[in-house]
Amino acid sequence: MRREMICICCPRGCRLVAERENDNAEWEISGNQCPRGATYAIQELTNPCRVVTAVVKTNSNQIMFLPVRTDKPYPREGIAQLLNTLYGMTVNVPVKRGDVLIHNVNGTDIDVIASESIEE
Ligand code: SF4
Repeated sequence: MRREMICICCPRGCRLVAERENDNAEWEISGNQCPRGATYAIQELTNPCRVVTAVVKTNSNQIMFLPVRTDKPYPREGIAQLLNTLYGMTVNVPVKRGDVLIHNVNGTDIDVIASESIEE
C-alpha cells in the first residue's frame, strides 16, 4: 500500500511517500526533510485535520461579517457540519480578536475564535 502527499507544514513542500505492507502494519514515511513531515503524514492517514476559517454574521450596523477560525486543526470529517453551524450563527458585538465564540466544538477541545475585533 502506497500513498503520496505534499507536506504543508512549511513552504518547502516536501513530497512525502507513505508505505505499509498491509492494513495492520505501521506506515513508513519517506521524503520528509524533518520530523514534522512524518507526523503530518501519519495524521493525514489516520485523522486528517484542518484549521477551519469562515465568516459569520454580526449584529453590527457597520461591519456585517466577522472572520473566525478554529484555534487548532479540526477533524476534516466534521468540517461541513461545523461550517453549517458557523453560517447559521450571529455574533453580538463588541467582540475582540481571540474571543471564544464556540467552546469545545463537539467535545474536541477545539474552540472557534474571532480573528478580528469589532468595536461596535
Ligand atoms: S517535511 Fe519538514 S521541511 Fe519538509 S515541508 Fe514538511 S515541515 Fe517542511
